[in-house]
Amino acid sequence: MTHMDEMFARAQCVIPGGVSSPVRAFGPVGGTPVFVTSARGAYVVDADGVDYVDLVGSWGPALLGHAHPEVVSAVQEAAARGLSFGAPTQAEVELAEAIRARVPLAEQVRFVSTGTEATMTAIRLARGATGRDKIVKFAGCYHGHSDSLLAAAGSGVATQGLPGSSGVTAAAAGDTIVVDFHDVDALTRVFDEAGGQIAAVITEGAPCNMGVVTPDDGFNATIRSLTRRHGALMILDEVLTGFRVGPAGWWGLEGGYDPDIITFGKVVGGGMPLAALGGRAELMQLLAPVGPVYQAGTLSGNPLATAAGIATLRLADDAVYAHVERRSAELRRLIGDALTAASVPHVIQAAGSLFSVFFRDGAVRTYDDAKAQDTAGFARFFHSLLDSRVYLPPSAFEAWFLSAAHDDGAMARIADAMPAAARAAAHS
Ligand SMILES: *Cc1c(COP(=O)(O)O)cnc(C)c1O
Repeated sequence: MTHMDEMFARAQCVIPGGVSSPVRAFGPVGGTPVFVTSARGAYVVDADGVDYVDLVGSWGPALLGHAHPEVVSAVQEAAARGLSFGAPTQAEVELAEAIRARVPLAEQVRFVSTGTEATMTAIRLARGATGRDKIVKFAGCYHGHSDSLLAAAGSGVATQGLPGSSGVTAAAAGDTIVVDFHDVDALTRVFDEAGGQIAAVITEGAPCNMGVVTPDDGFNATIRSLTRRHGALMILDEVLTGFRVGPAGWWGLEGGYDPDIITFGKVVGGGMPLAALGGRAELMQLLAPVGPVYQAGTLSGNPLATAAGIATLRLADDAVYAHVERRSAELRRLIGDALTAASVPHVIQAAGSLFSVFFRDGAVRTYDDAKAQDTAGFARFFHSLLDSRVYLPPSAFEAWFLSAAHDDGAMARIADAMPAAARAAAHS
């Protein structure tokens, strides 16, 4: 038994499934999850002292690479001044200003600790603003684990094989209408039938939680015009894509439409628990204490988290985004070449520098498309790479994450490992 097998056995005694979040378990691929003891740059180190090139990046936040010295010292300096005050700070103002500078439609920002809280609050705000109950989401989009947003929620839920979740009341689920991604006809029908009851449509900027599904040109703009016509709000969930695929997230790359509310998480906290929602001032001022929509948080806008966020956004300049994009293109090319050489059916889809590999033929445009792939082939591919010390998300339904720290050495290790992984995917 390795140290990690032992640790996992202990973990399962005291923590359900041994993990604090389901996607971390190796359920979909089998085996013992990697227990990480440290991370630096493009690498994570496990409890047995083995290092891996990391393509998980804490599921998004590690845009600059792990433990960037300037982010770490910003957090250390903040920690020395006190861990939490439960009072407003200058750092919150600075981070809100930094967000608004990049995404001007976020005139005002409310900080929370998780992406789940950001989207949950966005939904409550939309209901408060419109006086309507229903929300529309797309199958395969994930918006955190609040009750009303768990229906057909992609990745974690998909790989667990659960339809939604038990423990969610029929009432909570009943106000959520699920439409297939890209299905403009169905969305139009839903608005024709129930437009007067719909508070908001929520969508991921570019869906990344059923694997990466690049939205058709104009799809998000269509959501915008339909919601506007029917007096509903558009919530663009950029918890994953925000500040990762470009300086102003997916919205900044795509352009041409303005959502009412935009949510951020992951990169904006630089690896600390911090997320946010933003929008027009008059809308955001419906939140307490100005308005009637209640929302609160003991640790919201935590000083360590805001310090990490400010440092991360300051360091995430054009050169960082260009580097990550170049590495992404390089990696997609070498994966595609290896899978083609091994005759493995595959399609690689990208949204900016985020991409995923689907083990199937043909473009993935909906959640049903995403589910129709060879997940057993993915599991073999995953374990072959892991044996070569390359750490991917342990699920076929996740994006791969690169960082500014992925250098030639890290890329070379991945390139060396890829042909054998492709052959493993080919042969059961
Ligand atoms: C990760 C994620 C969330 C949830 O964020 P947590 O911080 O895990 O609660 C919400 N929306 C999207 C698009 C995400 O990728």
